[in-house]
Amino acid sequence: MATKRDYYEILGVNKTAPVDEIKTAYRKLAMQYHPDKNKAPDAEERFKEISEAYGVLSDQNKRQQYDQFGHAGIDMRYSQEDIFKGVDFEDILRDFGAGGGFGRGGGIFDIFFGGGGRREGPRRGSDILYELPIDFEEAATGKTVDLEIPRIETCNVCHGSGARPGTSPKTCPACRGTGQVSRTQNTPFGRFMTTSTCGTCRGSGQIIDAPCTKCHGSGTVQGRRKLEVKIPPGVDTGSRLRVPGEGEAGEKGGPPGDLYVEMNVRPHDIFSRHDDDVLMEATITFTQATLGDEIIVPTLDGKAKMKIPAGTQNGNVFRLRGRGFPSLHVSGKGDQLVKIKVDVPTKLNDRQKQLLREFAEASGEKPRSKGIFEKVKEHI
Ligand SMILES: [Zn+2]
Ligand SMILES: [Zn+2]
Repeated sequence: MATKRDYYEILGVNKTAPVDEIKTAYRKLAMQYHPDKNKAPDAEERFKEISEAYGVLSDQNKRQQYDQFGHAGIDMRYSQEDIFKGVDFEDILRDFGAGGGFGRGGGIFDIFFGGGGRREGPRRGSDILYELPIDFEEAATGKTVDLEIPRIETCNVCHGSGARPGTSPKTCPACRGTGQVSRTQNTPFGRFMTTSTCGTCRGSGQIIDAPCTKCHGSGTVQGRRKLEVKIPPGVDTGSRLRVPGEGEAGEKGGPPGDLYVEMNVRPHDIFSRHDDDVLMEATITFTQATLGDEIIVPTLDGKAKMKIPAGTQNGNVFRLRGRGFPSLHVSGKGDQLVKIKVDVPTKLNDRQKQLLREFAEASGEKPRSKGIFEKVKEHI
């Protein structure tokens, strides 16, 4: 096995770094290497390495032990599982949407231990990610939606025990309920103790003689959950709403996972969005642009009057203050930005042409002569 790298070096912090600096460094690296995000073949190894470093350096006792005795000090006193124990990875990783890992039943520990090596005791249920399409206007006003989500639920016949009603699971005699069996080996180098998952109960610590007929002993069934979810005003595509405890049921009495509702806002015919601002284009005639006018434009909440000042140019942008999206994080609203497109008429009758010629004359324009650019145009 390769030599283990220094924990401080792994996280890129110095030996006197305070805990919050270590946490920040870990978050940054975790975001980069989380196997749900990074598909490089060594990402999982790297993620485990930084997580182990964080597990040790974020704990005062373990860090002290490491500072004094190095890796040997840690290996001597702590198992791999001990290193990760008591570290709230879920809390750190939840912020960037990994939530400990979507689709990974056991959360982060499955990454570290492959799900096989540890005791299969209570397990937190998986998180569910639900993509919700909503209309552009609904994203601005918010909405209450009724969802029906297929998910794994606790069996209502055995209440999750897996045993037929009237019976109860028995403690596994092979491991006495611990889910693990230990073997001691004597070798010329000394006594070695190895621990592995109990084969009789497959780690659960319990044996079910009479399995529940509905769930066949698993304690969970496939079900559908109807629930009402309130979407706050101001959401955008990619906004995630966490509904705690509405994910899949936990196993063996473990807590349920969370439900994440991710918004997918449908595009709008007229409006588009930039942060909390609504953007649109309004076409006006060149007379309106020249003389000024008042026009009516659609907004997220009904029609609004907008003044076009005399001399408005093509491409000018006007702001309707407070007509944008409500901000999700702070109070206040964005604006509506209206970009002006001046329509140049293509079909003029004789009278219109005459008036425009008079207009040109009154403006002191010289009679039109065929310049070089018009020659070019004729050749197209
Ligand atoms: Zn059942
Ligand atoms: Zn057992």
